[in-house]
This record gives sequence, C-alpha cells and structure tokens, in this order.
Amino acid sequence: MRNPFCFRRPAAKRAPMADWCVFCDIAGRAPSSTTALLYSDDKVVAFQDINPSAFRHYLVIPIEHIPTVNDLRITNEDHQLVSHMVKVGKDLLDRDAPRSEEHRFGFHQPPFNSVDHLHLHCLALPFMPSWKQVKYTPLGPLGGFIDADKLLERIKPQAEVHS
Ligand SMILES: [Zn+2]
Ligand SMILES: [Zn+2]
Repeated sequence: MRNPFCFRRPAAKRAPMADWCVFCDIAGRAPSSTTALLYSDDKVVAFQDINPSAFRHYLVIPIEHIPTVNDLRITNEDHQLVSHMVKVGKDLLDRDAPRSEEHRFGFHQPPFNSVDHLHLHCLALPFMPSWKQVKYTPLGPLGGFIDADKLLERIKPQAEVHS
C-alpha cells in the first residue's frame, strides 16, 4: 500500500523562454536554420558543435526549451531525458570515433554555459587544440563543467521506500 503521507510535489514551472533561441530554431527545423542534424527523434536532436574543440565534438539538445542544468528537476521524466541524451551521444561517438582515446560527456553550468538551452557536449578526444580541454574538464564543485554521470546522480529521484 502506498504511504498516504508520501506524495509528489507538483513539478516546478520552468523559467520562461527567451524571445529567440538559436537551439530551438535548430531543434524545430526552422527554415532559417541550416544546421545538419546527425540524429533526431521526438525528444532530442544532435548536431556538430559550430566551433569544435576535439576530434569529434557533437551537441545533443532536448527539443523542449530547458535553459540550463539548474532547470532540471529531480523527476523520472528529466532523468530519463538526460539519460537518453547521453545514450544518443554515446551511439554517435561509437559510430564516428570508435578508436578515440576517450569519449567525454558533460554540461556547462551557469554562468559558464554559452547558450541558454540545455546542451550535452559529446567529445571524442584528443582535444584540438589541446588547451581547449580546460573548458571541458570538471574542476571541483565550483567547476564550470559537470560530467553527465554526475548530473544524472544529482537529478536521480530517490527510490520511494514503502513497507
Ligand atoms: Zn531553446
Ligand atoms: Zn556548453
């Protein structure tokens, strides 16, 4: 039997969208958008970073406008969305860079994010040029970059314990 005192709070409203968002244009296949998609489904799209920092450097974004990692909620829905983004990125790098020395997946945290539409960086190393790695390396709790696995831990809903 479900514990009657255990109930979910309604999901917090996300921050409103900016007037115009370049990644929404890409995800929505706006006529003005010339970005070639590497992958798309009903939840996410993937494309090459416009300014690549590694041998392969892809971005996976949700079609829904979620501004930053701070707007993700601790819900199954958001956890599954981010898991799916990572899966899509892994599949693409496995396909396009199977012999790369390392595949790295992560997000920039505000104020270090460039575009206010959630995007997963998928990097097949080496970094090119090598100094670019500072942008994509977690540096302690205040670092600008968070590994995708760490973020998934952070937004993982606690298993509900019922007797
Ligand atoms: Zn957007
Ligand atoms: Zn970024």
